[in-house]
Amino acid sequence: MKRSTISNMKIGPYKYEVHYIDDLKDPDNNNRLHGMHSHSKLEIMCEGMDHPQVQIATIWHEAMHAAFDLSGVNIGDQAEETVCTALSPIIIQMIRDNPKLVKATLG
Ligand SMILES: [Zn+2]
Repeated sequence: MKRSTISNMKIGPYKYEVHYIDDLKDPDNNNRLHGMHSHSKLEIMCEGMDHPQVQIATIWHEAMHAAFDLSGVNIGDQAEETVCTALSPIIIQMIRDNPKLVKATLG
């Protein structure tokens, strides 16, 4: 399957590298994951077998987690997961639906 071509993204002052790993698993419990991120390593890991559109959604989801880390806002792991899961697809859709606004924002 073709993978997303995104290899990095900026989040705040940092450039995160995006890595695609087949059969990505949570090191804490061995559960399958679509993605995870490490602020200390500035990495986003993405399931390599997922469809590229799923990978894009995963990258935005993990970017939101990274934004929580950067912001210092701590609402608890479960609430943060709920917020990232709920809002990341809406953010993606807003970007897709508002190309003029995105272009104006980029300057
Ligand atoms: Zn998450």
